[in-house]
Parts: sequence; structure tokens; C-alpha cells
Amino acid sequence: MSKKYLVVGGVAGGASTAARLRRLSEDDEIIMFEKGPHVSFSNCCLPYYLSGTVKKAEDLVLMTPEKFINQYNIDARVNNEVISIDREKKLVEVKNLLTNEVYTENYDKLILSPGAKPVKPPIPGIENANVFTVRNVVDIDKLKKEIDKIKPSRITVIGGGFIGIEVAENLIEAGHKVSLVEALPQVLNQFDYDMVQILHKELIDNGVELIVDDKVTAFDTNAVVLESGKKISSEIVIMGIGVKPDSNLAKNAGLKIGDTGAIWVDHNYKTDDTDIYAVGDAIQVYSPLMRDYFSLALAGPAQKQARAVANHIHEMPVSYWGYIGSSVVKVFGYNGAATGLNEHTLAKLDIKYDFVKIVPKDKVGLMPDSEELHFKIIFEIPTGRIIGAQAIGKGNVDKRIDVIATMITAKGTIEHLKDLELCYAPPFGSAKDVVNMAGYVASNVLHETFKQIQITEMHKLVENNAFILDVREQDEWDEGHIINAKHIPLSELRKRMNEIPKSELIYIYCRSGQRSYNAVLALQHNGYTDVYNVSGGFIGLCYNEYFLDKTLNRKPIVTEYDFT
Ligand code: FAD
Repeated sequence: MSKKYLVVGGVAGGASTAARLRRLSEDDEIIMFEKGPHVSFSNCCLPYYLSGTVKKAEDLVLMTPEKFINQYNIDARVNNEVISIDREKKLVEVKNLLTNEVYTENYDKLILSPGAKPVKPPIPGIENANVFTVRNVVDIDKLKKEIDKIKPSRITVIGGGFIGIEVAENLIEAGHKVSLVEALPQVLNQFDYDMVQILHKELIDNGVELIVDDKVTAFDTNAVVLESGKKISSEIVIMGIGVKPDSNLAKNAGLKIGDTGAIWVDHNYKTDDTDIYAVGDAIQVYSPLMRDYFSLALAGPAQKQARAVANHIHEMPVSYWGYIGSSVVKVFGYNGAATGLNEHTLAKLDIKYDFVKIVPKDKVGLMPDSEELHFKIIFEIPTGRIIGAQAIGKGNVDKRIDVIATMITAKGTIEHLKDLELCYAPPFGSAKDVVNMAGYVASNVLHETFKQIQITEMHKLVENNAFILDVREQDEWDEGHIINAKHIPLSELRKRMNEIPKSELIYIYCRSGQRSYNAVLALQHNGYTDVYNVSGGFIGLCYNEYFLDKTLNRKPIVTEYDFT
């Protein structure tokens, strides 16, 4: 007998559920309600309309109700909001937002994919400010029209998450002056502080006025007032401080809401009502790494959950592995990808971990477009199980993080990384790829073959006059080095070892950490016991120091920063 399925929300999770339901049965009736005027648009491409990378707002819409009915026999009703659910009678109440007509539809199964709403806190003066959010095609079209109309002297973006960053970048590309305000000490919280400094510098270098560790406390006429007292004159404000699961419809229907504020679902994405499922940004998901539930507003999970729900409705098996959170973002000339847990999250958990940072080339160095790739891998102590990784560089970062995401999902350890057989030819990578290298170094750290020190600890060590050894070549030293460091190039180290005291702790650096690692081992083999490799090298140190020196107005510990 044919069934009737209702889907609330017509974008990532909703449209994917409806399409999969149709693929699994020709007989059933499928109605998809969308309160906005568009279904199946590309949320992820919205910011790119501001720069003209996406030329027309219509291009953001991938499917129309006409295509849904013609290609899939799905009744997609735009401008129709589901306003309540009567679980006993198994029907929903729908309001046609164009005519204000309210009607009901009954269901056999109901699937909720209402997404997440941009957070808009009640900051004093917000009602009179020219504030925009970016969630759908209508929002971005309205924002673009306003920008074109009033030609603002400056635009302020509040929030340094990936939406805020992408919006800021696209506005700069379009020739606007942009301030970006973030309440935390850093943007893009998926990265650790030591890694994100590369992206802070990239934002500043591309003209973004980057303000971190400061909050908006009020809106004045054409101005944003910050906690620090700073006032930014700008005629347009874009709020991107995060999203909140849109769980009101579910809550009002008495469905169970999780501790995160998102809709509770079981491992089949079923709510606590056997005939109602939920997917996407509105639900909470389980993290096998944290052993807890969290919210994850990403398109990939929403679409995979949609497929799982349709399968489950059709009595096909569903696997629920939990979620680790893998993401990638472009910040002007850099790409940054991350997966699993980072140190921010680990600080709140009772998991013992260590990490290594390496800065290899992303392909063979002779290739003209080879670039440095800053790579951080975090692993559990004592098992070596991989629990997170971050990669930032100008080249292919997502490929490396995708490998790590796969390894985390397969419960892999850093030992597995060493022997992973990955594709190689010079234009693509190295015979020992970044992830293999990360496995070698992490394994050495786990097995205490050598000791390392993090770049974040170097400032204090320099101030305390620690013995720091630079093993780079003369020309690199001349370009910039740590103040008061001892310089002995690796090529002269064995001849000049008598210049290094055995009684002191020795901290060794090179550009990336690789030559200094060789120096550490050479010293260890010659009876030195307290020798530390500076993880992330001089290049990592320069990035870390640069942003802090500029923002804290402090005295540099390097003669020159060297980013070349
Ligand atoms: P949505 O796609 O938001 O769809 C929910 C829909 O439900 C909305 O259109 C809403 O109008 C409708 N709705 C809500 N309540 C009702 C109701 N009662 N009745 C009828 N309709 C209703 N993710 C990535 O993985 N990578 C990216 O690069 C990326 N970039 C993004 C950029 C931007 C600017 C934005 C806004 C999001 C981005 N995302 C990205 C996140 C991604 O788009 C979401 O995770 C994904 O769309 C979630 O799917 P969903 O179906 O849960 O919600």
C-alpha cells in the first residue's frame, strides 16, 4: 500500500530525504514544505555571490518546484511553513505564507529538516542598525542590493566562523573595506591558536581589519561599539556569530530535545516519536571521540543522514558511526582543513594526548607550485590513537585531512599512518606524503625517541635566556633568527659540538623542524640528554609571534620574521 511522507525543510537534508524516498519507491506520496521561496539552493555558495564569483542570485538555486514534480514526482511547496504537528492525529498544520491560508496534511511518516538559525543577540541598538544575516538566497540578495545601493564606506562582519570569514573575503574581493570582529582570541575555532595565526596574518595581509578578543556591546548610528571602547564606523553590519538548531517546531510538538538544545534522535535518526525522523543542523549527533552529543552544522552530514532516514523508512539497514566534524575553508590564498578534536575541545575532556607539528612541502620541492603545508596531528597517550588533525597551506590540505578523517573513523593509530600506501608523483605529493611524515614524527614522540618543545613556549624561553641553537644555513640566519640564539649550521654541527654545553637544556630549531630533528639525534648520540626539537620550526614560530607581537604590541624575539 502506498504511504504518505511529509518533509519539513527543502534544502540540504529535506531535499535529499525527499529525493531518496522517491528513488526507493514510485508509489508513495511525498510532499516537501519550505517556508522560503526557494528549495534546494546552495547555502555554501551564498558568500561567493558578494564577490561576483557566482554571477547571479538565481544561479544559487539548484532545483525548482517544477523540476521536483517533473523529475521526481515530489510536491515541493515553497512559501509554505509547517506551523505545528499533531502527533496523535498524525497531521501537520501548514500556513501558505503568500495567501495566509492555513491547512492540514496527514502523514504516515514525517521528516524534519528545518536547519539552524543565525544567532542574533539583543545587543542595544540592534533594532535601528542595518544588520544582515546570511542563511538563504533571499538574505544574500537583500544584502547585495543594499551594498550596491548605499555603497558603504565600511562593512563590519561580526563573528569569525567560516561564514563570517567567507563573507569578509568575498566583500574584500568586491573592493569593500571590511572590519571583522571576533569575541574569542581567534577566528575559526576548528583550528588551534598556534595554527590559526597563519590565517590571522592572511586576513590582515589582504586588508581585513581583524579585531579579536573584543565584543560588540552596542550599535550606534552607522557605528559598531566594542567592549574595548573602540567604535567602528560602518553603514552595514553582517552578523555571523553562529547558528542555533531550529528545534522550536519539534519542541512545541513535545518531541524530546537534547542537552545541546537540538532535536534528540536515536541511531536511526528517529525522534522519540516512532513516526517522526529528524536530520541536519537541527539534530544533535554523537561524537565517539568526546563520547558525548554535540551540534554539527555541515552539509555533508545532513545529506548522509537524509539518505539513512529514507533507507530506514524502507527497512534497509542504517549504520551510525557517530560524527567527528571534518571541514575545510578557503581564506584568501590559504586553505585550512581540520578533523576530529583540537586542543580547545581536549582542554575540557579527560583525555591524555600529545601532538606534533610538521611543515613539509605539499609536493616534491622541485615542482614550481610546491608549497609548505603546516600540519598538526593530535593523538591519544598511550595508545597513539589519532584524535584530530589540522592542515593549513596554499595547496591541497583537504586531501591530507580526508586521509586522517578516514583513519579516525577506522580507529587508526599514528603507527598506521607510517605505512599508508598513498598515491605519488611529483606534481601531487611526495613519496613519503605529509601524512606518512606525521606518522613517523608522532611515533618518535610517542616512543620518546626524542623530545620536542612547542613554539608557543619559545617566547618565555627566549626571555629566560635559554640555550637556543639555530642549525639553518648562513643565508637563512641572515634573513632572520631568534635573538641571542647560537648559530651552528647542521653541516658544521659535528665539528663544532664542543661549542654546545652539556650542562644546559638545548632547544634546537631549523626552518621546519626536520633538520633540527637530525641535530637533536646527533647530539643525543653524543651524550646530550636534555635536547628539544622546536616543533613547527622557525616558520611556525614567526607566524605565532607575528600576530601576538602586533596585537599585544610586544618586543619581538626574532631579528626579522621570515615567511618566505
Ligand atoms: P538547511 O539547509 O538550512 O535547510 C532548512 C530549511 O528548512 C530552510 O530553508 C528553512 O527555511 C526551512 N524551514 C525551517 N523551518 C521550517 C518550517 N517550519 N516549515 C517549512 N520550512 C522550514 N556546510 C558545509 O559543509 N560546507 C560549507 O562550505 C558550508 N558553507 C555554508 C555557508 C553558508 C553561508 C551557510 C548559511 C551554511 C553553510 N554550510 C556549509 C552549512 C550547510 O549549508 C548546512 O549544514 C546544511 O544546509 C544543513 O542542512 P539542513 O537541511 O539541516 O538545513
